[in-house]
Amino acid sequence: MSQIAEHFHTMTYGPAPESDAAAVAWLDAHNRRFDLFINNRWAAPAEGRYLAVSNPARGEDLAQVADAGPPDIDAAVSAAREAYETWSALSPHQRARHLYAIARNVQKHARLLAVLESLDNGKPVRESRDIDVPLVARHFYHHAGWAQLLDSEFGDYQPLGVVGQVIPWNFPLLMLAWKIAPALATGNTVVIKPAPYTPLTALLFAEIIAEAGLPPGVVNIVTGGDAAGAALVAHDDLDKVAFTGSTAVGRIIRGATAGKGIKLTLELGGKSPFIVYDDADLDGAIEGLIDAIFFNQGEVCCAGSRLLVQESIADEFLARLKARMSRLRLGDALDKGIDIGAVIDPSQYEMIDQWVRRGISEGADVYQPECELPASGCFYPPTLLTNLEASAAVAQQEIFGPVLVAMSFRTPSEAVELANNTRYGLAASVWSENISLALETARQVKAGSVWINSSNLFDAAAGFGGYRESGYGREGGREGLYAYMRPKWQARIKPQLGDPPADWGAQVPPAPLGLESAASNSEIDRTAKLYIGGGQKRPDGNYTRPVLSPSGKLVGQVGDGNRKDIRNAVEAAHKAKNWAYYAPHNRAQILYYIAENLSARRDEFARRIANMTEATPANAKSEVDASIERLFHWAALADKAGGTVQETTLRGLVAAVNEPVGVIGIACPDAPALLAFVSLVAAAISRGNTVVCIPSPLYPLSATDLYQVFDTSDLPAGVVNIITGERDHMVKTLVEHDDVDGVWYFGDAEGGRQVEARSVHNIKRAWVSYGAARDWTDARQGAGAEFLRESVEVKNIWAPTGA
Ligand code: NAD
Repeated sequence: MSQIAEHFHTMTYGPAPESDAAAVAWLDAHNRRFDLFINNRWAAPAEGRYLAVSNPARGEDLAQVADAGPPDIDAAVSAAREAYETWSALSPHQRARHLYAIARNVQKHARLLAVLESLDNGKPVRESRDIDVPLVARHFYHHAGWAQLLDSEFGDYQPLGVVGQVIPWNFPLLMLAWKIAPALATGNTVVIKPAPYTPLTALLFAEIIAEAGLPPGVVNIVTGGDAAGAALVAHDDLDKVAFTGSTAVGRIIRGATAGKGIKLTLELGGKSPFIVYDDADLDGAIEGLIDAIFFNQGEVCCAGSRLLVQESIADEFLARLKARMSRLRLGDALDKGIDIGAVIDPSQYEMIDQWVRRGISEGADVYQPECELPASGCFYPPTLLTNLEASAAVAQQEIFGPVLVAMSFRTPSEAVELANNTRYGLAASVWSENISLALETARQVKAGSVWINSSNLFDAAAGFGGYRESGYGREGGREGLYAYMRPKWQARIKPQLGDPPADWGAQVPPAPLGLESAASNSEIDRTAKLYIGGGQKRPDGNYTRPVLSPSGKLVGQVGDGNRKDIRNAVEAAHKAKNWAYYAPHNRAQILYYIAENLSARRDEFARRIANMTEATPANAKSEVDASIERLFHWAALADKAGGTVQETTLRGLVAAVNEPVGVIGIACPDAPALLAFVSLVAAAISRGNTVVCIPSPLYPLSATDLYQVFDTSDLPAGVVNIITGERDHMVKTLVEHDDVDGVWYFGDAEGGRQVEARSVHNIKRAWVSYGAARDWTDARQGAGAEFLRESVEVKNIWAPTGA
């Protein structure tokens, strides 16, 4: 007995190495030198450059890979373009079979993939073997299913074309799968650039897909440095760019693709909260936290890097955490008994260390357990920083290493406030045995994934992606597929723009009324004001703009809004954010009520349209009728599009909740003035957003006539704010405003480019038309699912239920 007890206390781990023989043999078979994978063949880089790839745990070189230059990117994009013709014409079932074959082949080579991934990245082989690679296979299986169901589930959609994809080094193969599987399932072809540190599993994957019989050119893999990524995303023959990486590079890519009519999704960084309430299962929470922050050396975009623990248990929790941290083992990636591997590169080590030093300079107490570190390689000890202000840089910025920042809170509302006190919004973890508290917190935290009493759960059936500066778009789930398709009615828009005008969005003073116009002004009895916070407000600049009919007749005057008015309107829209918490039924009732009140004034609104736009009386009436119908449509959907239950591999409930985006700035097209305004605003507010809307600059009076309709329909003050005036001048302020979460712009192509380029301020979602025609009377074009998707952020709430 005593011997057993002794063993129990002194038990130490011996090494449990995974063999690297097969991976080494694979590398040797390629003479440790790899070219580019284009058209299912290896192609030497045109400029003859290669990059060294090393093993961060051992500091040894593993191989040389091609560093693609612009001619190689050209060749890869042309191959993808050519293959697109046949790939997109395959039946969904044929594509499903290809994806299925890839999934099978990934499983066949699972061990080799896992070992190679760990050698290249430094991550524990236990993780690459049990998490990364199985998730890769699962992703292809799941998307084989979507490919099969494409016609029945997405009959109204078409593929985009050629997709350029750029991925980071922290989950090299998994990120590749998240990118390639949905693109292929929906009929696109791909050029993908892996991260320079970790290209090897992508190159093995190239062989795996060729072996699985994927036609040449459907997937092209171009290795290379950052410049290769920049050349890819700037290529003129892409239809979509999908990027995963840092927020800083995401910003650059948004700028580089602005105005090209390219669909863009950005999966960026995070600083995710890990919230522990005092009634949590503390042992579970400690294990969850260890996984949340030390999984993959903390080099995880959704790492739970900010611990928020309730004050009453903070001391005990931190003591337990330190004890647990002291038992973590660091070591070679191929040792199956280690918890933490090597960070990716000496430069990353240095960056992490700089952050820790910065934390110390900001007043942090540092805890790093006395752990045994391997003699060589990039091993950073698990680190805990306490005693920091919420505003400290280390508490706000992504560190991307095994560094946890801990803070405490007193009340649930303080926890939510702290959780949301960041520019990011990727994930959150909430620990409590009180289901109401956990769910309420999950609803209030701004993040794309929220894990209740769990952390780091992923599955192909649930979308993953961010709010705010964590990016936009989702990968996985039904929601992730839309990123790779567009409605069948919609043509690919390729704006042809010259140099951007330096004075875009400058305020142009309203033209003075000529004598002739002034003379025809006799019937005009009032100037419509702005509508802010439920009241009519004079424009800040005290200017008015004439409203002229197409033949030049003065039909009215409106306030000429400026930056200050937009800012006031944004403030009012923020104050009205309780609208998001209205019961959907109540939002529906208000939309119906608006429709009813508009209907009561149908003739008056029709006369206004006829007078203002010189439409025939019949056409004017049908525009009013279509607007009433549209209000009914969004009222009807207000309580029918809340989300879905996702069928993941988790035993438990995973709910995809459609949450409002927040404050949306809307710039309406010139015409049809009433119908487009109603179509856009009703869609946004139906899902709980509040809006600042710039109505048609040519025909704004239909919108200003709605003030009274809103007032008599119980619409809460500030839910809809209307600022008349110059569209581009005001949208410039809207898009650059950090408290606006999304901008919808239905102006010209140049404006679309400007809105996209300027949306980088807070990585705003931008939906722009580039001036393309849209039939607003058509149910698909004027009220399709596109409107719904632009109105929501999909949040996946994961609630495991146990065994
Ligand atoms: P990074 O942004 O430096 O690089 C990512 C990729 O972009 C690499 O392939 C790189 O070569 C390429 N690149 C760099 N500059 C480019 C440019 N100007 N144009 C085009 N491509 C360019 O990021 P990283 O250091 O490789 O990865 C870490 C970051 O990735 C972290 O911020 C992390 O949070 C984020 N990440 C996010 C997710 C997510 O799903 N949200 C997942 C994993 C990682």
